[in-house]
Amino acid sequence: MTGTIRHVGAPPPAERVLLIGAHPDDPEFFCAGTVARWVAAGTAVHYVVVTSGDKGQPPEWPGDRPFGELREAEQLAAARLLGVQGVTFLRLPDGEVFDTLALRAQLTAEIRRFRPDLVLTHDPLTRLYRQHPDHRAVGAAALAAAFPASQLATFFPEQRAAGLQPHRVRTVLLFGSDRPDTFVDIAPVLERKLAALRCHESQASAFPGGMEQRVRTRAREAGAPAGLEFAEAFLWVDLE
Ligand SMILES: [Zn+2]
Repeated sequence: MTGTIRHVGAPPPAERVLLIGAHPDDPEFFCAGTVARWVAAGTAVHYVVVTSGDKGQPPEWPGDRPFGELREAEQLAAARLLGVQGVTFLRLPDGEVFDTLALRAQLTAEIRRFRPDLVLTHDPLTRLYRQHPDHRAVGAAALAAAFPASQLATFFPEQRAAGLQPHRVRTVLLFGSDRPDTFVDIAPVLERKLAALRCHESQASAFPGGMEQRVRTRAREAGAPAGLEFAEAFLWVDLE
């Protein structure tokens, strides 16, 4: 696919990055290389994971054991491996996420709490139609929270009483986009991305033919438009 290229190379400079994903493993699948490079550059990265992926369980999983707990543990291990500062789980039911006012309020609170200059989330309007519906819903709610809700005191004014002040996000990078314009070179950290993805052991069956091969192929395809061997690709959104 050809399109505009806005940025190629290292991740765009940022002091604080908030990654808002739908399920455990979305942060690593879409962004682990970029996150690893940010952490190496001294950027503070925090995750918000909206569901705990409780519907992705294998058929043999015992019914009396909550699957979401295992997925949260896997997510925490992957985040720790990458040097992410922390993970907030909102624990909405997997597969049942909508872009509601309640979710926008929760994400606005997370933005006002962590005060990122850059937010990473799913592209809610991607035309890659084979897409988990939670991805679209989370992307839409996260964008609505980043602009304009988090910056205006008139949105969710009750949060001020809880000590959360309005906050202005400078940039959003959307992942899973069908028209990316920002290409982060992940060749130096590809092994780290694979190691982080291996923490999500319960999802191994989601990669027929092997996770490593799929990740390498995806990273190669993502980098091709920008002349990179391996990349993660994003659509850049300016909010100011
Ligand atoms: Zn997902």
